[in-house]
Amino acid sequence: MPILVMKFGGTSVATLDRIARASKRVAREVANGYDVIVIVSAMSGKTNELVGWVEETSPLYDAREYDAVVSSGENVTAGLMALRLQEMDIPARSWQGWQVPVKTTGTHSAARIEDIPQTNIMAKFAEGMKVAVVAGFQGVSPEGRITTLGRGGSDTTAVAFAAAFDAERCDIYTDVDGVYTTDPRIADKARKLDKIAFEEMLELASLGAKVLQTRSVELAMRYKVKLRVLSSFGEYDPEAGTLVCDEEEIVEQNAVSGVAYSRDEAKMTLISVADRPGIASAIFTPLSEAGINVDMIVQNISEEGRTDMTFSCPVGQVARAEKALQEAKTAGQINYHDLVADTDVAKVSIVGIGMRSQAGIAAKMFEVLAREGINIKVITTSEIKISVLIDRKYMELAVQALHDAFELEKG
Ligand code: ADP
Ligand code: ASP
Ligand code: MG
Repeated sequence: MPILVMKFGGTSVATLDRIARASKRVAREVANGYDVIVIVSAMSGKTNELVGWVEETSPLYDAREYDAVVSSGENVTAGLMALRLQEMDIPARSWQGWQVPVKTTGTHSAARIEDIPQTNIMAKFAEGMKVAVVAGFQGVSPEGRITTLGRGGSDTTAVAFAAAFDAERCDIYTDVDGVYTTDPRIADKARKLDKIAFEEMLELASLGAKVLQTRSVELAMRYKVKLRVLSSFGEYDPEAGTLVCDEEEIVEQNAVSGVAYSRDEAKMTLISVADRPGIASAIFTPLSEAGINVDMIVQNISEEGRTDMTFSCPVGQVARAEKALQEAKTAGQINYHDLVADTDVAKVSIVGIGMRSQAGIAAKMFEVLAREGINIKVITTSEIKISVLIDRKYMELAVQALHDAFELEKG
């Protein structure tokens, strides 16, 4: 039997009614002749609640216990969906990550999947089971402890299963009907894309578009998984949603395909550090060891042998970054006059494969922001993206203005 992977996100399993509705979609695919692997998220809001409980109990928590608690939301939905399917006379059972087993690294709260042996699940399909309902987001470490894959990780579970079981397709059911030119929740004019190239989806995801976890896109690209994003609320339509595919499959290509944003950024500046070989390493090694996700980096021109170094990181990591830098200063590894954190910034990015062959895109982006009176604090570019750090209060305005200026509402 061909295998299909279907993933249901938090809002798609938020209530028993929604679980019933999702189960009907699964039943339809079983009727279409598939053995189905369903990957479920926790009911929406559940993971946040669990994270809150952990932080309240132990602010500097043991990451292994964080994973033990935070992974549990998915267990509930997996069991409930298996029960619902059984009520519909479909042979189904639930699987927690460790039972499959989904083998991961031991990096708690940000583990990577290393292997998913087919044996256990395939044996059950051979016995007549039609649906394996697997708890997403979780796995088991080499030490036998429960791990989680980072927020949004059920997408990655789904793609990894599709690759491991050579599935015909991986369908990601969510609360929007596909991938849009930007988040439809902040721009009315956002347009749903029928197709998007892996490279572009990868950039959009890593720049903040949370519709797919970045790692899931990486895996789909590497293992050539046919990946589709669609709504779990619309009517059944085999052509619905957005296909994430190779660049060659896309005929028309605008210079810019999408706008992404990341709301919770912070900009940190080390004022007056010695401008000498090894200084960047002396600053960024302790940050990396403290697990800080440094993103943009700018070093100013030096004056009299001293310079300012600016970087961005998630706003939630500012306290840890400050501690790591202070410790490096106390240990005499770096010397700076002051450390200034600006926690009211956001990152806005434009992405498009077409930028490779078209000049003037950056100039146009800066002109649009200037026209809106938005000051740019940091800029970074790569071949297919341009990102700017701006005051958070202008984030929505910047996204909408760029969406308009690059005419993304037009196909
Ligand atoms: P799920 O719970 O199904 O995993 P998520 O909340 O993780 O859903 O992701 C879906 C959300 O991603 C949408 O509700 C939307 O607000 C947001 N989003 C951000 N950028 C985009 C985009 N370019 N296209 C579609 N959705 C986007
Ligand atoms: N429930 C997890 C989270 O909220 C994983 C997921 O939904 O993908 O991050
Ligand atoms: Mg998600």
